[in-house]
Amino acid sequence: MLGGHLDSWHGATGATDNAAGCAVMMEAVRILKTLGVKPRRTIRIALWSGEEQGLHGSRNYVKYHLADPVTMQLKPDHGKISAYYNLDNGGGKIRGIYLQGNEAVKAIFSKWLEPFKEMGAGIVTINNTGSTDHVPFDAVGIPGFQFIQDPLEYNTRTHHTNMDTYDHLVPADLQQAAMVVAAFVYNTAMRDEKLPRKELPTARETPLRGF
Ligand SMILES: [Zn+2]
Repeated sequence: MLGGHLDSWHGATGATDNAAGCAVMMEAVRILKTLGVKPRRTIRIALWSGEEQGLHGSRNYVKYHLADPVTMQLKPDHGKISAYYNLDNGGGKIRGIYLQGNEAVKAIFSKWLEPFKEMGAGIVTINNTGSTDHVPFDAVGIPGFQFIQDPLEYNTRTHHTNMDTYDHLVPADLQQAAMVVAAFVYNTAMRDEKLPRKELPTARETPLRGF
């Protein structure tokens, strides 16, 4: 699966947060359809709603289709999904990917990024990143990842401000990102195995906070 969030803050049209992420993910799917490739696994895109209010779209998708994050009761699809990829850090180029603490995917992702090194995407970090829609997947043990992006003016100017408008997007950067994402979802769909998972989280006594 791949996705971004379609909702945005009301001060502007939300070009970098997160129309850019949605556009890149949709373009990645369009590229794969145009190429006519026949992936072995289903590739599903989700454009989430209510992200800014608390990841409501992705949290509820996960809860109803994959697993309850509190009781950790698993649904049938929990065993079928390989990975979820997210893009929600503005309109900048993809520079690499956060492993979200999943050491076992490091070698796989490093290999997948090799063709993109010349385009500036080569970083594979064990670090976590949060506050967006891959977190609910990760919370129930599904490999969920967010790409590392060039910050551009995201933190200094456009994020949740009245300047988050179309003129702050860089088409060439979005095109680069779409190529990287298309390769990642295609490679994921073509693997014999699902991506390696971290240990399954145990049931929690209190609802999860800080999503
Ligand atoms: Zn966002």
